[in-house]
Amino acid sequence: MSETIKHIEIKSVVKSYGKIHAVNNVDLNVLAGECVALVGPNGAGKSTLFKLILGLVRPTSGTISILGQQPDQPVFDRIRKSIGFLPEQVLFQGSLTGRETLQFYTSLKGESKDQIDGLFQTVELVEAADRRVSTYSKGMRQRLGLAQALIGNPEILLLDEPTSGLDPASRLNFYEIIEKRRVQGAAVLLSSHALTELEARTNRVAVLAHGKLVANGSINALKSKLALSSKIKLKATPTQMKLLSTKFADHFDINHIVNGVAVLDCPENQKVSLVKDLMSSDIKFDGIEIIEPTLEQVFASLTKGEKRL
Ligand code: ADP
Ligand code: MG
Repeated sequence: MSETIKHIEIKSVVKSYGKIHAVNNVDLNVLAGECVALVGPNGAGKSTLFKLILGLVRPTSGTISILGQQPDQPVFDRIRKSIGFLPEQVLFQGSLTGRETLQFYTSLKGESKDQIDGLFQTVELVEAADRRVSTYSKGMRQRLGLAQALIGNPEILLLDEPTSGLDPASRLNFYEIIEKRRVQGAAVLLSSHALTELEARTNRVAVLAHGKLVANGSINALKSKLALSSKIKLKATPTQMKLLSTKFADHFDINHIVNGVAVLDCPENQKVSLVKDLMSSDIKFDGIEIIEPTLEQVFASLTKGEKRL
């Protein structure tokens, strides 16, 4: 396969259900050796995007190309074998054992059963392999689902909310497995509604809100581009507050006073000088606190549609 072919290429894709634009004009590429996280709140369009990539639903407009082929072409059946997919809700037959389940999926994919033991080792389910799936915990089912997606070592991994319901240790193990596949050259697209757990674990995050891609970049790049303001909390007597409101009118808004505490918005790059100015003024403060924007706020500000990067 030529180097220039993008593993996943989504161009101006729209998917509407009546008046709802589940996916609204999205452009997104994932290359070999890349792990991209699709982040967004419930209803943002993440699962729809996976269905579009798999050819389970067709775009209303725009084009999708997977390993150079479009999902609605007959040749795509061959491409589909290169895709490992973990759906949002994994439904397994509870009466089958884990091993029987993977046997079923390997036959479905026309793959060798020899890899099954290795897959159980990878997802750390060796001891439970011959137990019925009905006895598995949520996390174990999720790991069995991951093993299913890894059958045949696919070039593309699509994982829809793979870590929801996993405890922190399983989550870590999960990202380690994905990272190994990525280093081997797989293109990984995974979705999550939590941005915080993705820090340092993915190359890029693509943030979806109301079907639109509102950001696409590394978490650090998003943080600095957004330049969310810090907040400076000040405690003072009403007389001193009055002084503050006149001397620092640029930063001050009467609505910022809550229970006698003033909260001043301040761009990150002006924080130090503002604090200096406040401290060298003749206003007497009873307390000062600087509140930095959190990753959750970055996410909230993006998904509320206030910003677009
Ligand atoms: P997410 O996976 O990010 O939670 P979805 O892709 O499941 O979001 O859904 C995006 C939007 O599209 C939601 O408003 C959802 O109700 C709507 N939607 C998804 N599938 C259908 C469908 N088959 N028919 C009608 N609306 C749908
Ligand atoms: Mg979903």
